[in-house]
This record gives sequence, structure tokens and C-alpha cells, in this order.
Amino acid sequence: MIYPIVKYGDPVLEREADTVTEFDTPELQAFLNDMFEPMYAAKGVGLAAPQIGVSRKVAVIDVSNGENPDDKLVLINPRIVRVEGKQVGEEGCLSIPGFREQVRRGRVVTVLAQNAKGEEFEKTGEDLLARAFLHETDHLYGRLYITHISTLKRDLMKRKIKKLQRAGDWT
Ligand SMILES: [Zn+2]
Repeated sequence: MIYPIVKYGDPVLEREADTVTEFDTPELQAFLNDMFEPMYAAKGVGLAAPQIGVSRKVAVIDVSNGENPDDKLVLINPRIVRVEGKQVGEEGCLSIPGFREQVRRGRVVTVLAQNAKGEEFEKTGEDLLARAFLHETDHLYGRLYITHISTLKRDLMKRKIKKLQRAGDWT
């Protein structure tokens, strides 16, 4: 079964997820596999556990969307430790389908995280990968990319989403 992706409006997306304390278990490994599947199915480059309704500090990233096995990344309990430069580009979110906005982000970003065994590692990414580190880590702290756009644009987006909700087109 592929987990359905939770959409904007669900409170799980706007609260800090629980820190992972148990590593190297079959349950965690199975959960990680369960996270890559809906991301690939939705053609996304990253997915955070709250997006499948699980409040847990786990994110998966693959900027190649399954093309390059070396790009498969698991971030557990990630923290952003360095941000350098700037980039402005279009960003979207699988939990806010149909919308994209220009978002200003750091261009070179270093994340400190744990792997499935609980080992800490640091990884630095540029451009799209840097953006994914920031976007997915934000998710685990209950922050959506729309908190990084202007109030005007955000309010407009929220009104459009409300309309979709009322019409039953946002489930
Ligand atoms: Zn997202």
C-alpha cells in the first residue's frame, strides 16, 4: 500500500514532529521504504514524514526522482547547520498540490542528520538539493514553504485552497 499524502489544512503539517530515538530496527527500515514510494509516485524530490500523517523527524530526498541511486538520501532528526548565498526559484509542495511560488532560499546548505543506524553525518548541498534540505527540515518543525512568501500571496493562496475545500476538491 502506498501512503496517501496529507494536504495543507491537516494540523500534523503544522506542528513539530517527534524526534526519532530508536534506530537500526526493521520497523524504521520499512518506514523509510514506505516514505520513498509515495514521493516517487508523486514525482517529488523530497518528502517529510508528517506528509504521510506521521509526526516523526524523518525526511527522504532524491533530487533525481529515482534516476540515480546515489541521490537517495535519508535524513533523520536533521538540523540545518550552515546556509550560504541566495537563490530565488519556484517551489512547490506535495501537500499543497497545484500551487507554486517563488521562494528565496540559501544556495549552499549544510545539514546535520542521522542515518537509519543512528550515525550522525553532515552533508552539503547546492541549488535544488540545498532547497530540498531547507524545505524538508522545515516540514519537521511544522513550517511550510508558504511561510517564506509574502502575506499577500499567502492569503491569496489560502483563499483559493478554502474554495477547493468547500467544493470538496481538496481531500
Ligand atoms: Zn513540502
